[in-house]
Amino acid sequence: MKISINPFNNQKLYEFEELNAVQLKERIVQAQSAFQDWKTTSFSERSKLIRAVARDLMENTKEYAEIITLEMGKPIVQSLAEIEKCAWVCEYYATHAEDQLKDEIITTNAAKSYVRYEPLGPVLAIMPWNFPFWQVFRFAVPNLMAGNVGVLKHASNVMKSAEMIQRIFEKAGFPKGCFQNLIIHNDKVKSVIENDFIKAVTLTGSTPVGASVASIAGSSIKKTVLELGGNNALVVFEDAQLERTLDSCVQARFQNTGQSCIAGKRLLVQNRIAMKFIQGFKNKVAQLRSGDPLDKDTFIGVLAREDLAVDLEKQVKESIKMGAELILGGKRNGTYFEPTILSDVTRDMPIFREETFGPVIGITIFETEEEAMNLVNDSDFGLGVSLFTSNRERMERLIPQCNEGAVFINELVKSDPRLPFGGIKTSGYGRELSAHGIREFMNRKTVYIK
Ligand code: NDP
Repeated sequence: MKISINPFNNQKLYEFEELNAVQLKERIVQAQSAFQDWKTTSFSERSKLIRAVARDLMENTKEYAEIITLEMGKPIVQSLAEIEKCAWVCEYYATHAEDQLKDEIITTNAAKSYVRYEPLGPVLAIMPWNFPFWQVFRFAVPNLMAGNVGVLKHASNVMKSAEMIQRIFEKAGFPKGCFQNLIIHNDKVKSVIENDFIKAVTLTGSTPVGASVASIAGSSIKKTVLELGGNNALVVFEDAQLERTLDSCVQARFQNTGQSCIAGKRLLVQNRIAMKFIQGFKNKVAQLRSGDPLDKDTFIGVLAREDLAVDLEKQVKESIKMGAELILGGKRNGTYFEPTILSDVTRDMPIFREETFGPVIGITIFETEEEAMNLVNDSDFGLGVSLFTSNRERMERLIPQCNEGAVFINELVKSDPRLPFGGIKTSGYGRELSAHGIREFMNRKTVYIK
């Protein structure tokens, strides 16, 4: 049994019966059977259905946003924005998929030689709760446009979102089996990956789970895309534009109540502006409004589960024990965690080394550019970094020095359907979104005609 519990008030919301082994196999057979027809459809047929999905999202934004907010505590304004972003990714791929997957002619000795993109089949998506709609849509939309079909193992605490997403695709007219939600415990995932009909796996979640899923898929020679944790740095140089940088840094760390892989988790500030910047940052964070996630004025909601808040508390306490100074917040009450700032953070502290998944930020002061880059790269993760500076030469000089999947200058790291998204090191591999994302689960068939 899967149960959704509102993390704000601990009330039980929904219950879902899990699939038994026979039902699970039937669903996968159904996915394979749907694939046989779906792969033969034209891009214009697929676009029509994806656009119907976008319309449905825009017509029912409030209903879907409330499901997100109730199930995982995201402030409602941010849930509304999440649904709108899902509609955006639909419009993006409905418009561009055909062009992104057209044959690539390559001149050789042949009369004609080219690469042809063909879908692989049913793809398993293992998805997390932090963006319960967006994470699924950014997988499902490009894959459906490409002619693949999807089966979803969503996080156990957001099963209503998962059920609703399947319903949205069905309502739009997608044939049965093109997109299915599998209500299963995570110990059943291995059998799904090993099923012959499943051709590839994509996972967004924690690094240990990514490693386990990838090794199972690797044993059956199935491709994986992994979008795992992150520990992005926000690097503020002395020549950064103060007000704009403060706003970007607050947004980068505290939106989604800090529960985002691409959040800026380590704030690195150059020594000459440190006092002024930290004071300004503290003032802004202190003004963030916490409250009922359903209230439109709330910016800080609650964490999605109490165990996540407890883990965060341990990371904060341990860092303080090791010498970090608490300059704001620090207290937990159930799933609520106060917006928290720690300064004097050193490289050995959990708050610097580990991913913190909540409204907590650690500040480290640096003197030189070299020291800043050293701190940025001193991480097992490599998802992204934000550099704040008005010096163009510095920007160009530092971009190649960042060991990251993305470098954003004077902006927080964010996903955009037009840009590839993904990491290196233990943040994972492969890319989602853009032309890069839609090509991940395709057979790039080489054709040579003499
Ligand atoms: P998990 O990695 O455990 O969960 C992510 C997804 O993987 C869920 O669907 C989960 O299902 C599934 N899963 C869990 N264990 C297995 C397994 N052994 N085999 C197959 N699938 C599995 O993340 P948590 O929710 O526990 O969060 C823990 C930490 O992970 C966070 O604090 C954060 O650091 C990181 N995280 C990163 C995310 C990102 O966006 N990169 C998103 C979420 C978490 P089920 O819910 O049923 O266990």
